[in-house]
Amino acid sequence: MSGAPRHAPLTQFALRDDCLQVGGVALTRLAERVGQTPFYAYDRAALTARVAELRRHLPADIELHYAMKANPMPALVQHMAGLVDGIDVASGGELRVALDSGMAPERISFAGPGKGDAELACAIAAGSVLNMESGAEMARIDAIGRRLGVTPRVAVRVNPDFELKSSGMKMGGGPKPFGVDAEQVPALLERLGRLALDFHGFHIFSGSQNLKAEALQEAHEKTLALALRLAASAPRPPRLLNIGGGFGIPYFPGESRLDLEAVGANLARLLPAVRSQLPQAHFVIELGRYLVGEAGLYVCRVIERKVSRGQVFLVTDGGLHHHLAASGNFGQVIRKNYPVVIGNRVAGGARETASVVGPLCTPLDLLADQMELARAEAGDLVAVLQSGAYGLSASPAAFLGHPAALEVLVGERAARGDAA
Ligand SMILES: *Cc1c(COP(=O)(O)O)cnc(C)c1O
Repeated sequence: MSGAPRHAPLTQFALRDDCLQVGGVALTRLAERVGQTPFYAYDRAALTARVAELRRHLPADIELHYAMKANPMPALVQHMAGLVDGIDVASGGELRVALDSGMAPERISFAGPGKGDAELACAIAAGSVLNMESGAEMARIDAIGRRLGVTPRVAVRVNPDFELKSSGMKMGGGPKPFGVDAEQVPALLERLGRLALDFHGFHIFSGSQNLKAEALQEAHEKTLALALRLAASAPRPPRLLNIGGGFGIPYFPGESRLDLEAVGANLARLLPAVRSQLPQAHFVIELGRYLVGEAGLYVCRVIERKVSRGQVFLVTDGGLHHHLAASGNFGQVIRKNYPVVIGNRVAGGARETASVVGPLCTPLDLLADQMELARAEAGDLVAVLQSGAYGLSASPAAFLGHPAALEVLVGERAARGDAA
């Protein structure tokens, strides 16, 4: 066998008769039920299990928020709302979905640069927490609150003076459009104290898609130290310390799972000292892909099997217009394959090396580049795993005018009376 790096083992979808099962339904049957390919399927039980796993490993008083930009499908957000302690939104549109989910408005926080006045007014009227990204935004929030006769709930989003190392996407440290530079926060807090704003605390988010426990441990230590330093300048003791998230999931060959136990143990070690100095603070971790990414797959159908100069191409009805990230065009520097299988014959009889492409007339429309797969024919289903986050909503659906993908959330919720 070659020593080529492999994908981390994935066990969230059971196999029966060599066919993937989603929420207890065979993928072939699910495709009939959905009525078309391509589609995204999310497994309700896998979402529930992931939240439970986090709760097992993190200190009991860490609150979990769902960062819904990872997957804004309303039914999924609704399910998550029943599992987590809050929802983080990044637009007025996401705010509406979050409010519809029944999450208490003060447990919804709104971050993001360039919030429009209309979006700010909606959030203030709703009573949600605004994570302020600049002094100019603070002045607009204050003016809108006065106009509405409502005291806005606010937190200061801090651009930390350190980076989250080994992160797929850095969102703090150095010059950034996100948050207020840490060194400018004390002056901002002084101005805040003179405005009609209800100060809740700090939001310190340093990066995303991190698989290294040591990097997260270091970031948590620095984040909590920074929060303590900034709290000394606050107009009142912080009630909210959002220490970010950034927990990653394994997408590519050679990547292995985050050691959640190590991250949790480190937080359990760090928190007591901070809590004794900030007894009113709620500690929040906000996660997107870690909560939902592994619970979803993208399914498309092989239209044609084509051999070009000895290479096998499985031409499907799905592609980058539905799943930009799997094509390698959503922030990847070097294109690597997502975990892809032939969903209705995972092991298969014969195996071969094949590339999975979509119907778009561009070489970028590539879902798998020369991967080892079960030998597939027209009509077989290709499943792209690890697709529950940054899938459909992060893809250029209109590019080339092909039909849209559907999304389904599969699996039953506990029946009335079953709940523990
Ligand atoms: C994008 C984002 C998240 C979610 O990131 P994931 O990698 O999906 O966990 C959380 N918080 C903020 C502020 C973000 O911008």
